[in-house]
Amino acid sequence: MTNTKVCKLNREFEDLTLYSRKISLKTNKMISAVFLDRDGVIIEDCHYTKNPDDVKLCLGAKNLLRELNNKNIMVVVITNQSGITKNFLSWEQYREVNNRMINLLGYPNPINAIYANSYISDQPATNWRKPNPTMILKAAFDLNLNLKKSILIGDRLTDIIAGQRANIPKIFHVLTGHGRKERGEILKLISQKQISNESKVFCKKDLKEVLKDLII
Ligand SMILES: [Mg+2]
Repeated sequence: MTNTKVCKLNREFEDLTLYSRKISLKTNKMISAVFLDRDGVIIEDCHYTKNPDDVKLCLGAKNLLRELNNKNIMVVVITNQSGITKNFLSWEQYREVNNRMINLLGYPNPINAIYANSYISDQPATNWRKPNPTMILKAAFDLNLNLKKSILIGDRLTDIIAGQRANIPKIFHVLTGHGRKERGEILKLISQKQISNESKVFCKKDLKEVLKDLII
């Protein structure tokens, strides 16, 4: 897989995006998508994962992505990679991890696009870093996605808030990755009704459970 770096060093998307856009524009109608965080959702979170040999798929990831692919639902990965700016890993190492993940998911590649950013949290509020919804909105624009019929799956509070800010109606929080640690905050968010009317958050154990529940 080759890659296209866009505009600035600290934001990028894979050229899969361009391929997906062609598919999407050919049909000329907005399509549903499932947005997934990468670390702790599709692959196990190894704390700034940089070694492809450390990449392990989370339970249920392969089946879920395959199922979405079979249903022609766009699969979009949105991932914060602040470790690149912090010099824990390089963009090249980040891409090697992606390639390993895609290899483990099997052929044909079920991921349509990957959006990543290396912003750190104290950089301007308009950047690509979740909880900002920027990567989601950019993907929706690039790929002609119907966010009102889309889903987001994440393990961190920042994923959930990004989905909410993009008005994604169905958001799943999973316990993998940082999920167990952050579940309390998610429950607080739900109980305080801080979620917008457009979004509902569902708490699940892992992607295997999400698959059972997934109806778009
Ligand atoms: Mg995560």
